[in-house]
Amino acid sequence: MRALNFNGGPAALPLPVLKTVAAETLDWRGTGMSIMENSHRAKEVVAMAEETQADLLSLLGLGREWKVLFCQGGASLQFAMIPLNFAPEGETCDYIDTGLWSTKAYQEAQICGAKAHLAATSKADDYTYIPGEFNFSAKPRYIYLTSNNTVRGTQWASFPKNPPAPLIADMSSEFLSRPLDLSDFVLVHAGAQKNVGPAGLTIVLIRPEWAETGKKNLPHMLDYRTYIEHDSMFNTPPVFAIYVAGLTFKWLRDEIGGLEKMRELNKAKADFLYQAIDNSGGFFRGTARKDSRSPMNVTFRLPNEELEKDFLAEAKKVGMAGLNGHRSVGGMRASIYNAVDMAAVRTLVEFMAEFQRKRG
Ligand SMILES: *Cc1c(COP(=O)(O)O)cnc(C)c1O
Repeated sequence: MRALNFNGGPAALPLPVLKTVAAETLDWRGTGMSIMENSHRAKEVVAMAEETQADLLSLLGLGREWKVLFCQGGASLQFAMIPLNFAPEGETCDYIDTGLWSTKAYQEAQICGAKAHLAATSKADDYTYIPGEFNFSAKPRYIYLTSNNTVRGTQWASFPKNPPAPLIADMSSEFLSRPLDLSDFVLVHAGAQKNVGPAGLTIVLIRPEWAETGKKNLPHMLDYRTYIEHDSMFNTPPVFAIYVAGLTFKWLRDEIGGLEKMRELNKAKADFLYQAIDNSGGFFRGTARKDSRSPMNVTFRLPNEELEKDFLAEAKKVGMAGLNGHRSVGGMRASIYNAVDMAAVRTLVEFMAEFQRKRG
Protein backbone atom coordinates (compact mmCIF):
# COMPACT_ATOMS: atom_id res chain seq x y z
CA MET A 1 0.00 0.00 0.00
CA ARG A 2 1.26 3.49 -0.82
CA ALA A 3 1.79 5.85 2.08
CA LEU A 4 0.22 9.27 2.31
CA ASN A 5 3.47 11.09 1.77
CA PHE A 6 3.93 14.47 3.48
CA ASN A 7 7.73 14.44 3.15
CA GLY A 8 9.53 17.76 2.92
CA GLY A 9 11.88 16.39 0.27
CA PRO A 10 12.53 14.13 -1.49
CA ALA A 11 8.78 14.17 -1.65
CA ALA A 12 5.66 12.74 -3.27
CA LEU A 13 5.53 12.44 -7.05
CA PRO A 14 2.33 12.22 -9.13
CA LEU A 15 1.07 8.65 -9.33
CA PRO A 16 0.56 8.74 -13.13
CA VAL A 17 4.20 9.81 -13.49
CA LEU A 18 5.41 6.89 -11.39
CA LYS A 19 3.23 4.49 -13.37
CA THR A 20 4.69 5.70 -16.64
CA VAL A 21 8.20 5.32 -15.24
CA ALA A 22 7.36 1.76 -14.15
CA ALA A 23 5.85 0.88 -17.52
CA GLU A 24 8.83 2.28 -19.44
CA THR A 25 11.58 0.89 -17.26
CA LEU A 26 12.51 -2.08 -19.44
CA ASP A 27 12.00 -0.49 -22.82
CA TRP A 28 11.94 3.28 -23.12
CA ARG A 29 10.53 4.67 -26.36
CA GLY A 30 11.36 1.52 -28.29
CA THR A 31 15.07 1.74 -27.60
CA GLY A 32 15.07 -1.74 -26.05
CA MET A 33 16.54 -0.42 -22.82
CA SER A 34 15.60 1.81 -19.92
CA ILE A 35 16.21 5.53 -20.00
CA MET A 36 18.92 4.92 -17.40
CA GLU A 37 20.84 2.69 -19.80
CA ASN A 38 20.67 4.98 -22.81
CA SER A 39 23.54 7.22 -23.82
CA HIS A 40 22.92 10.86 -23.08
CA ARG A 41 24.06 11.49 -26.67
CA ALA A 42 21.41 9.15 -28.14
CA LYS A 43 19.09 11.11 -30.37
CA GLU A 44 16.03 9.97 -28.40
CA VAL A 45 17.56 11.22 -25.16
CA VAL A 46 18.65 14.53 -26.64
CA ALA A 47 15.12 14.95 -28.04
CA MET A 48 13.62 14.14 -24.64
CA ALA A 49 15.84 16.73 -22.91
CA GLU A 50 14.93 19.38 -25.49
CA GLU A 51 11.25 18.57 -25.18
CA THR A 52 11.50 18.85 -21.41
CA GLN A 53 13.07 22.30 -21.68
CA ALA A 54 10.41 23.44 -24.15
CA ASP A 55 7.58 22.04 -22.02
CA LEU A 56 8.89 23.87 -18.96
CA LEU A 57 9.17 27.22 -20.74
CA SER A 58 5.69 26.77 -22.15
CA LEU A 59 4.21 25.88 -18.73
CA LEU A 60 5.71 29.06 -17.30
CA GLY A 61 4.76 31.13 -20.32
CA LEU A 62 8.39 32.08 -20.93
CA GLY A 63 10.01 32.78 -24.27
CA ARG A 64 13.46 32.45 -25.76
CA GLU A 65 14.87 35.17 -23.50
CA TRP A 66 15.06 32.38 -20.93
CA LYS A 67 17.08 29.20 -20.97
CA VAL A 68 16.44 26.02 -18.97
CA LEU A 69 19.56 24.41 -17.49
CA PHE A 70 19.87 20.97 -15.95
CA CYS A 71 22.46 21.25 -13.19
CA GLN A 72 23.65 18.98 -10.41
CA GLY A 73 24.91 19.59 -6.89
CA GLY A 74 21.48 20.52 -5.56
CA ALA A 75 20.22 23.96 -4.69
CA SER A 76 23.26 24.03 -2.41
CA LEU A 77 25.71 24.29 -5.32
CA GLN A 78 23.69 27.21 -6.68
CA PHE A 79 24.39 29.01 -3.40
CA ALA A 80 28.03 29.11 -4.54
CA MET A 81 27.65 29.31 -8.33
CA ILE A 82 25.55 32.46 -8.16
CA PRO A 83 28.12 34.61 -6.30
CA LEU A 84 31.05 32.98 -8.14
CA ASN A 85 29.55 34.04 -11.46
CA PHE A 86 27.91 37.32 -10.57
CA ALA A 87 29.64 38.84 -7.54
CA PRO A 88 33.25 37.69 -7.69
CA GLU A 89 36.10 39.69 -6.24
CA GLY A 90 34.23 41.62 -3.61
CA GLU A 91 31.25 42.86 -5.59
CA THR A 92 28.16 43.70 -3.57
CA CYS A 93 25.09 41.50 -3.65
CA ASP A 94 22.04 41.72 -1.39
CA TYR A 95 20.48 38.85 0.49
CA ILE A 96 17.15 38.59 2.24
CA ASP A 97 17.35 36.12 5.10
CA THR A 98 14.12 34.21 5.72
CA GLY A 99 15.51 31.04 7.26
CA LEU A 100 17.90 28.15 6.94
CA TRP A 101 18.32 28.00 3.15
CA SER A 102 18.72 31.73 2.64
CA THR A 103 21.14 31.91 5.58
CA LYS A 104 23.21 29.23 3.90
CA ALA A 105 23.13 31.06 0.57
CA TYR A 106 24.24 34.28 2.29
CA GLN A 107 27.10 32.52 4.07
CA GLU A 108 28.19 30.79 0.89
CA ALA A 109 28.35 34.13 -0.94
CA GLN A 110 30.77 35.36 1.73
CA ILE A 111 32.89 32.24 1.38
CA CYS A 112 33.01 32.86 -2.37
CA GLY A 113 34.45 36.33 -1.81
CA ALA A 114 31.36 38.39 -2.55
CA LYS A 115 30.49 41.39 -0.44
CA ALA A 116 27.17 40.02 0.73
CA HIS A 117 24.86 42.58 2.29
CA LEU A 118 21.88 41.59 4.42
CA ALA A 119 18.96 43.68 3.11
CA ALA A 120 16.43 42.21 5.57
CA THR A 121 16.08 39.34 8.00
CA SER A 122 13.25 37.90 10.08
CA LYS A 123 15.70 36.05 12.31
CA ALA A 124 14.80 38.02 15.47
CA ASP A 125 11.25 36.67 15.17
CA ASP A 126 12.38 33.13 14.55
CA TYR A 127 11.77 33.47 10.80
CA THR A 128 8.01 33.42 11.28
CA TYR A 129 7.35 35.98 8.55
CA ILE A 130 8.51 37.39 5.21
CA PRO A 131 9.96 40.90 5.62
CA GLY A 132 8.20 43.74 3.82
CA GLU A 133 10.87 46.41 4.23
CA PHE A 134 14.33 46.26 2.79
CA ASN A 135 17.55 48.08 3.34
CA PHE A 136 19.14 47.53 -0.06
CA SER A 137 22.72 48.54 -0.64
CA ALA A 138 23.57 51.33 -3.08
CA LYS A 139 24.45 49.26 -6.13
CA PRO A 140 24.00 45.55 -5.64
CA ARG A 141 24.71 43.17 -8.53
CA TYR A 142 21.63 41.18 -7.63
CA ILE A 143 19.09 40.62 -4.85
CA TYR A 144 18.73 37.08 -3.61
CA LEU A 145 15.74 35.57 -1.86
CA THR A 146 14.20 32.18 -1.03
CA SER A 147 10.64 32.29 -2.31
CA ASN A 148 9.33 29.44 -0.17
CA ASN A 149 10.94 28.58 3.15
CA THR A 150 10.64 24.84 3.43
CA VAL A 151 11.74 24.68 7.07
CA ARG A 152 9.68 27.53 8.52
CA GLY A 153 6.62 27.19 6.31
CA THR A 154 6.63 30.73 4.96
CA GLN A 155 6.26 31.99 1.40
CA TRP A 156 6.59 35.29 -0.43
CA ALA A 157 3.07 36.22 -1.58
CA SER A 158 4.62 38.85 -3.88
CA PHE A 159 8.18 39.93 -4.56
CA PRO A 160 9.90 43.30 -3.90
CA LYS A 161 8.49 46.01 -6.15
CA ASN A 162 10.89 48.05 -8.31
CA PRO A 163 13.99 46.34 -6.93
CA PRO A 164 17.24 48.29 -7.42
CA ALA A 165 18.85 45.21 -9.00
CA PRO A 166 17.71 42.02 -10.72
CA LEU A 167 16.16 39.36 -8.50
CA ILE A 168 17.47 35.83 -8.07
CA ALA A 169 15.45 33.24 -6.20
CA ASP A 170 15.70 29.78 -4.75
CA MET A 171 12.27 28.37 -5.55
CA SER A 172 13.06 24.75 -4.71
CA SER A 173 10.05 24.03 -2.55
CA GLU A 174 7.40 25.78 -4.58
CA PHE A 175 8.61 25.44 -8.15
CA LEU A 176 5.61 25.08 -10.50
CA SER A 177 3.10 25.37 -7.67
CA ARG A 178 1.80 28.69 -9.06
CA PRO A 179 2.25 30.90 -12.12
CA LEU A 180 5.22 33.24 -11.87
CA ASP A 181 5.87 36.71 -13.12
CA LEU A 182 9.61 36.63 -13.73
CA SER A 183 9.95 40.08 -15.26
CA ASP A 184 12.20 41.31 -12.42
CA PHE A 185 14.20 38.07 -12.28
CA VAL A 186 17.35 36.96 -14.05
CA LEU A 187 17.82 33.54 -12.45
CA VAL A 188 15.65 31.05 -10.62
CA HIS A 189 16.85 27.73 -9.27
CA ALA A 190 15.04 24.74 -7.85
CA GLY A 191 16.19 21.36 -6.63
CA ALA A 192 13.92 18.84 -8.34
CA GLN A 193 13.22 16.68 -5.31
CA LYS A 194 10.55 18.91 -3.77
CA ASN A 195 7.99 19.43 -6.47
CA VAL A 196 9.29 18.11 -9.77
CA GLY A 197 11.18 14.82 -9.72
CA PRO A 198 13.99 12.81 -8.16
CA ALA A 199 17.00 14.29 -6.37
CA GLY A 200 20.15 14.82 -8.43
CA LEU A 201 18.70 17.43 -10.76
CA THR A 202 18.62 21.15 -10.13
CA ILE A 203 16.62 23.17 -12.58
CA VAL A 204 17.99 26.61 -13.35
CA LEU A 205 16.12 29.21 -15.34
CA ILE A 206 18.45 31.91 -16.52
CA ARG A 207 18.47 34.79 -18.97
CA PRO A 208 21.42 34.03 -21.30
CA GLU A 209 21.97 37.77 -21.67
CA TRP A 210 22.54 38.01 -17.92
CA ALA A 211 24.76 34.92 -17.93
CA GLU A 212 27.03 36.78 -20.34
CA THR A 213 27.72 39.38 -17.63
CA GLY A 214 29.21 36.71 -15.40
CA LYS A 215 32.85 36.19 -14.50
CA LYS A 216 34.95 34.59 -17.24
CA ASN A 217 37.40 31.71 -16.87
CA LEU A 218 35.65 29.87 -14.10
CA PRO A 219 36.02 26.09 -14.01
CA HIS A 220 33.64 24.79 -16.67
CA MET A 221 31.17 23.11 -14.36
CA LEU A 222 30.82 26.27 -12.27
CA ASP A 223 30.16 28.57 -15.22
CA TYR A 224 26.54 29.00 -16.36
CA ARG A 225 27.76 29.66 -19.89
CA THR A 226 29.01 26.10 -20.14
CA TYR A 227 25.50 24.78 -19.54
CA ILE A 228 24.00 27.25 -21.98
CA GLU A 229 26.51 26.56 -24.75
CA HIS A 230 26.32 22.79 -24.38
CA ASP A 231 22.59 22.56 -23.72
CA SER A 232 23.35 21.07 -20.27
CA MET A 233 25.31 18.23 -21.90
CA PHE A 234 28.89 19.35 -21.29
CA ASN A 235 29.15 16.32 -19.06
CA THR A 236 26.66 13.53 -18.41
CA PRO A 237 23.52 15.15 -17.06
CA PRO A 238 21.17 13.38 -14.61
CA VAL A 239 19.22 11.80 -17.46
CA PHE A 240 16.77 9.79 -15.37
CA ALA A 241 15.84 12.78 -13.22
CA ILE A 242 15.37 14.96 -16.30
CA TYR A 243 13.09 12.33 -17.79
CA VAL A 244 10.92 12.13 -14.65
CA ALA A 245 10.78 15.94 -14.42
CA GLY A 246 9.63 15.96 -18.06
CA LEU A 247 6.81 13.56 -17.22
CA THR A 248 5.80 15.81 -14.32
CA PHE A 249 5.67 18.83 -16.65
CA LYS A 250 3.36 16.91 -19.00
CA TRP A 251 1.21 15.86 -16.05
CA LEU A 252 0.94 19.48 -14.96
CA ARG A 253 -0.05 20.54 -18.45
CA ASP A 254 -2.33 17.68 -19.52
CA GLU A 255 -3.87 16.35 -16.32
CA ILE A 256 -3.83 19.37 -14.01
CA GLY A 257 -4.39 21.95 -16.72
CA GLY A 258 -1.52 24.35 -16.11
CA LEU A 259 -0.08 26.46 -13.32
CA GLU A 260 -3.11 28.66 -12.62
CA LYS A 261 -5.15 25.52 -12.02
CA MET A 262 -2.34 24.08 -9.92
CA ARG A 263 -2.29 27.23 -7.81
CA GLU A 264 -6.05 26.94 -7.18
CA LEU A 265 -5.74 23.31 -6.15
CA ASN A 266 -2.81 24.09 -3.86
CA LYS A 267 -4.68 27.00 -2.30
CA ALA A 268 -7.74 24.85 -1.60
CA LYS A 269 -5.58 22.20 0.11
CA ALA A 270 -3.68 24.75 2.18
CA ASP A 271 -6.80 26.72 3.19
CA PHE A 272 -8.44 23.49 4.34
CA LEU A 273 -5.46 22.46 6.45
CA TYR A 274 -4.78 25.90 7.95
CA GLN A 275 -8.47 26.22 8.78
CA ALA A 276 -8.33 22.95 10.69
CA ILE A 277 -5.33 24.27 12.62
CA ASP A 278 -6.95 27.64 13.34
CA ASN A 279 -10.23 26.04 14.40
CA SER A 280 -8.66 23.62 16.86
CA GLY A 281 -9.01 25.99 19.81
CA GLY A 282 -5.25 26.27 20.13
CA PHE A 283 -4.54 22.53 20.27
CA PHE A 284 -2.76 22.81 16.93
CA ARG A 285 -0.81 26.02 16.56
CA GLY A 286 0.55 27.30 13.23
CA THR A 287 4.12 28.57 13.54
CA ALA A 288 4.17 31.02 10.60
CA ARG A 289 2.51 34.42 10.69
CA LYS A 290 -0.78 34.29 8.78
CA ASP A 291 0.23 36.76 6.08
CA SER A 292 3.37 34.74 5.36
CA ARG A 293 1.99 31.21 5.40
CA SER A 294 3.24 28.79 2.78
CA PRO A 295 0.71 26.79 0.77
CA MET A 296 3.42 24.15 0.35
CA ASN A 297 4.86 23.50 3.82
CA VAL A 298 2.37 23.74 6.66
CA THR A 299 4.23 23.96 9.96
CA PHE A 300 2.48 23.56 13.30
CA ARG A 301 2.95 22.48 16.90
CA LEU A 302 0.95 20.58 19.47
CA PRO A 303 0.68 21.60 23.14
CA ASN A 304 3.85 19.69 24.11
CA GLU A 305 6.58 17.48 22.69
CA GLU A 306 5.14 14.37 24.28
CA LEU A 307 1.92 14.81 22.30
CA GLU A 308 3.95 15.60 19.18
CA LYS A 309 5.82 12.32 19.50
CA ASP A 310 2.57 10.41 19.91
CA PHE A 311 1.01 12.30 17.00
CA LEU A 312 3.83 11.26 14.68
CA ALA A 313 3.79 7.65 15.90
CA GLU A 314 0.03 7.30 15.43
CA ALA A 315 0.12 9.01 12.04
CA LYS A 316 2.75 6.52 10.94
CA LYS A 317 0.56 3.61 12.07
CA VAL A 318 -2.23 4.72 9.76
CA GLY A 319 0.08 5.19 6.79
CA MET A 320 0.93 8.90 6.98
CA ALA A 321 4.62 9.63 6.50
CA GLY A 322 6.89 12.64 6.78
CA LEU A 323 4.91 14.82 9.20
CA ASN A 324 7.88 15.64 11.40
CA GLY A 325 9.31 19.14 11.17
CA HIS A 326 12.80 19.80 9.83
CA ARG A 327 15.41 18.51 12.26
CA SER A 328 16.65 22.07 12.91
CA VAL A 329 13.29 23.26 14.32
CA GLY A 330 11.25 20.22 15.38
CA GLY A 331 7.47 20.35 15.55
CA MET A 332 5.23 19.22 12.71
CA ARG A 333 5.35 19.93 9.02
CA ALA A 334 2.91 18.71 6.41
CA SER A 335 4.41 19.28 3.01
CA ILE A 336 1.54 19.37 0.56
CA TYR A 337 3.35 19.74 -2.73
CA ASN A 338 1.67 19.51 -6.14
CA ALA A 339 1.53 15.71 -6.06
CA VAL A 340 -0.22 15.55 -2.67
CA ASP A 341 -3.92 15.70 -3.47
CA MET A 342 -6.92 17.02 -1.57
CA ALA A 343 -7.91 13.47 -0.54
CA ALA A 344 -4.61 13.12 1.31
CA VAL A 345 -5.11 16.47 3.03
CA ARG A 346 -8.65 15.50 4.05
CA THR A 347 -7.37 12.27 5.55
CA LEU A 348 -4.77 14.22 7.49
CA VAL A 349 -7.35 16.71 8.78
CA GLU A 350 -9.65 13.86 9.89
CA PHE A 351 -6.74 12.23 11.66
CA MET A 352 -5.88 15.51 13.41
CA ALA A 353 -9.47 15.96 14.62
CA GLU A 354 -9.57 12.38 15.90
CA PHE A 355 -6.23 12.80 17.69
CA GLN A 356 -7.46 15.98 19.37
CA ARG A 357 -10.72 14.28 20.40
CA LYS A 358 -8.77 11.51 22.11
CA ARG A 359 -5.90 13.51 23.57
CA GLY A 360 -6.95 17.15 23.66
C1 LIG B 1 15.64 21.44 0.08
C2 LIG B 1 16.05 22.82 -0.15
C3 LIG B 1 17.38 23.17 -0.41
C4 LIG B 1 18.50 22.17 -0.37
O1 LIG B 1 18.54 21.50 -1.57
P1 LIG B 1 19.73 20.48 -1.93
O2 LIG B 1 19.25 19.96 -3.25
O3 LIG B 1 19.74 19.44 -0.86
O4 LIG B 1 20.97 21.24 -2.01
C5 LIG B 1 17.67 24.49 -0.68
N1 LIG B 1 16.71 25.43 -0.69
C6 LIG B 1 15.41 25.14 -0.43
C7 LIG B 1 14.39 26.22 -0.45
C8 LIG B 1 15.05 23.83 -0.17
O5 LIG B 1 13.76 23.53 0.08
